[in-house]
Amino acid sequence: MSSATVPAGERAAAAATAGSSGGLPKPSPLYAAAGLDVWTMMNQAAASVGAVNLGQGYMSFPPKDFITRAAQEALAENSHNQYAPPRGRPGLLEQVGARFSRLLGRDIDPGSELSVHAGANEALLSAFTAFLEHGKGEEVILIEPAFDQYTPNVIMAGGRPVYVPLRVRTTKDPAREVVSSSDWKLDPAELEAAVSSKTRILVLNTPHNPVGKVFTREELEEIGAVAQRHNLLVIADEVYEHLTYGIEHVSIATLPGMWERTITVGSAGKLFGVTGWRVGWAVGPASLIAPTLSAHTRIVFTTNTPLQEGIASALCLAHDNDFFNVQRSEYERRRNRLMAALDDAGLPYVVPDGAYYLLANAASIKIPKDYEFPSYIEARGYNFKLAYFFIKEFGVSGIPPTEFYSDAHKALAVDYIRFAFCKTDEVLEEAARRLQKLKTHLQCSD
Ligand code: GLN
Repeated sequence: MSSATVPAGERAAAAATAGSSGGLPKPSPLYAAAGLDVWTMMNQAAASVGAVNLGQGYMSFPPKDFITRAAQEALAENSHNQYAPPRGRPGLLEQVGARFSRLLGRDIDPGSELSVHAGANEALLSAFTAFLEHGKGEEVILIEPAFDQYTPNVIMAGGRPVYVPLRVRTTKDPAREVVSSSDWKLDPAELEAAVSSKTRILVLNTPHNPVGKVFTREELEEIGAVAQRHNLLVIADEVYEHLTYGIEHVSIATLPGMWERTITVGSAGKLFGVTGWRVGWAVGPASLIAPTLSAHTRIVFTTNTPLQEGIASALCLAHDNDFFNVQRSEYERRRNRLMAALDDAGLPYVVPDGAYYLLANAASIKIPKDYEFPSYIEARGYNFKLAYFFIKEFGVSGIPPTEFYSDAHKALAVDYIRFAFCKTDEVLEEAARRLQKLKTHLQCSD
C-alpha cells in the first residue's frame, strides 16, 4: 500500500510511535532544553517593574552624529545594497587594517590577514568552527568568568569546553572592601594543568567582561608561554580594547611568537556604541584567517554591506576628530559615577580597569527567607535570586554573573551582581538615587 492509500488516522498513529516525542520533529538536545538567555530574562524582569536597566551591555545613549550619518550616506548609495564579498568590503578592510597596523605594530595585509564578520560573536563562532573537528573530543580552555556565548559556540563547533577560573588574590575581604580587577588572577599552574593532549584552543578576553580586568604584559607572557608549549591557538576577544582607564591594553598577538598562533577579534558595535549593527572582525596571519573566512562564508556568507561602509567612513573620521580619546574619558566618567554611587550606598565592588561593566559584591544583602520568586528565577539558583531581588526591591537591574561560569565554579560568583555603565548620566543618576535604599536594607539586616 502506498502512503497515499493509508488512511490519515493510521498514518498519524504510525508517525506517533516512530519518535519518542509523539512523532513531532525533535530538536537537538543543545537547544531543546534551552530556556531564556540571561539577557532577555533580565531585560524582561527589569521592564516589568520599571527598573533602571544596568543589565545588558548596550548603550542607552545615541551614537555620535558622524557615525549614524556615515551609515545613512552609505545606505543612500545604490551599490551598497547588494552582497559584500565574504571577506568584507574593501573600504572597511583597509580602515580596519590601518587601525590594527597601528595597534599591533605590524603591517596588516587587509587582503589576507583580516575578515569582517556579523559581529564579534560570529567571528568567534567562525574561528571555533574552523579549528575544531567534530567527534574528536577536542578541548577549548575558557577562563571564567567566560562570556556566556563561548560555551555554546564551542559545543556547536564540536569542541569540549574546559574551564579555568580567575581567583581573587588579595588580603582584603571582597565582601566588605573595594578590590581591584587586577586582584582577579589566573594561576598559570592551574591553566597548564587544564591542558591535555586534546586541547586545541585557549580563549582570552582582555579587557575582560564582566570583571573589567586588563591583563598585564607579564600575565599575557605566562599565558602565551603555555600556548606555545602546547601548540594552542589563542582566540583573543579584545572587543573592549579601546576602553581602558589609566592602564595600557596589550594585545597578546604582539608578544614574541604569538602573532602566528593568535586570532584577535574586534567589534565595531563596541568601538562606536552601535551594538545592533552587528559588524565585527578577525585579524591574524593568513594561515589562521583563511579557514576562519571559509567557516564564515558557510555560516552567514557575508556581513551586511551598508553598515560595513558606514563603519569604514566612521573609522576614517574617528581618527581625525579624536573620537576614541573623547569616548574613553566619557566612559571613565560613567565608571566613576557608578563607583561613587556604590560607595555611597555602602556596597563594595571590583574596580574595573577596562570595558564597561562592574561587579558589585552583595554578600551583605540578606534576602528574607520567605521572599517569593517566580519559578524561572527560583530554578536558576541564588545568584539569579539576588539579581531579581535588586530589581524588585531597589529598582535597579544587573546580570547574575554565575551565568558566566560552569556548574563546578558557580560558587565563586554567587554574591556578585554585574552592572553595566554604558548608560546616560540620567540613567546612572537615577540608579544612584535608587541604590540609596540599600543603606536602609543593610542597616535593617545587620
Ligand atoms: N556583550 C554584552 C554584555 O555582556 C551583550 C551580550 C549579549 O547581549 N549577548 O552585556
